[in-house]
Amino acid sequence: MTGCTHGNGRALCFECFKAGMERTRARQAAWTQRDLPFERPEPKRKLSEQEIAHRRRMLDHLVDAARMGA
Ligand SMILES: [Zn+2]
Repeated sequence: MTGCTHGNGRALCFECFKAGMERTRARQAAWTQRDLPFERPEPKRKLSEQEIAHRRRMLDHLVDAARMGA
């Protein structure tokens, strides 16, 4: 690895590998925190009877399709 200052002479320096992992993790954490304000999960809404009925029809259709071997 270029820029290795650990001087153990190995092709894969564990110290550098670990440092790289920590850098990646820190970057991911920073991104996650950055993204948080934009992540506005929709408030949980109760499904209407019509929506539930629609889902039931879809499920029935899927069950029928599976039975028919589609
Ligand atoms: Zn190193």
